[in-house]
Amino acid sequence: MSDTLQRFMFDSSPVRGELVEISDAWQQVQARRTYPAPVATVLGEMMSAAALLSANLKFNGAIIMQIHGDGPVQLLVVECDSSLRLRATAKLAQDAVIADDASLHDLVNLHGHGRFAITLDPADKLPGQQAYQGIVSLDGDSVATVIENYMLRSEQLDTRLWLAADNKVTRGLLLQKLPHEGGTPSPQADNDRWDHVVMLASTLGKEEMLSTDIMTLLNRLYWEEQVRVFEPRKPSFHCGCSREKVGNMLKMLGREEIESALADLGELDIDCDFCGQKYAFDAVDCAQLFTTDMLADAVQPPGRQQH
Ligand SMILES: [Zn+2]
Repeated sequence: MSDTLQRFMFDSSPVRGELVEISDAWQQVQARRTYPAPVATVLGEMMSAAALLSANLKFNGAIIMQIHGDGPVQLLVVECDSSLRLRATAKLAQDAVIADDASLHDLVNLHGHGRFAITLDPADKLPGQQAYQGIVSLDGDSVATVIENYMLRSEQLDTRLWLAADNKVTRGLLLQKLPHEGGTPSPQADNDRWDHVVMLASTLGKEEMLSTDIMTLLNRLYWEEQVRVFEPRKPSFHCGCSREKVGNMLKMLGREEIESALADLGELDIDCDFCGQKYAFDAVDCAQLFTTDMLADAVQPPGRQQH
């Protein structure tokens, strides 16, 4: 079993589908930090979902999926770029107590203030261009329903998701109804076909998804349908953090803030939340951040963005 994303189409239904299974990359996320089982389940399901949406969007850039929680889990983040390179992390509240059977609601929506956000961050931003972010209240009792509700509101497309994760593997299935075109008999016939493929997928249980590879799942669900599969793609773990990016983040905090932190701590130690890489900035490094900035401002023509 290796990390795979498989797109497919039905010959006689205006529906596109994708299946994903992520094991290696998911192990790499968990090797860096251990999470209580219910948190790992949510984060794993978000990984599959981010890969499925990223492959479905045909967008050159990273998709960042976040749940801002108001319970024992404060934040869950998964990023996936156009090459299906993923990273993920979760932040728990201090002294968080998490029961083995905690639900999504228990974890992130205890007081009804949980938020779900999707950010589309273009790979080659033009100067001044911002990432697009959609943020909604947490509507649904599973990661899959939260995303389905989000998609229905933002894209007005019927999208259904089935997700499952344990500490070994995460798998997901996405079905999306395509707009009616002349090739099929009628919108009503489209709806019937859509209902049919969704009904078959709805027989999938979490246990079955966790124990069965995606090609077997595809055959088991749709053996009576004419299904066309595309070239499989490979999701992988990748963290794009760098000393330069951490330096830029420190610069954004401003010189005064940095100098006061240095006075307290002597050195700033920043750990990447996603991969655990450590970055140390002493007084000399920090001073350099602001000098190079001044130099760059002096040398660069106005209007050029520096990354
Ligand atoms: Zn990193």
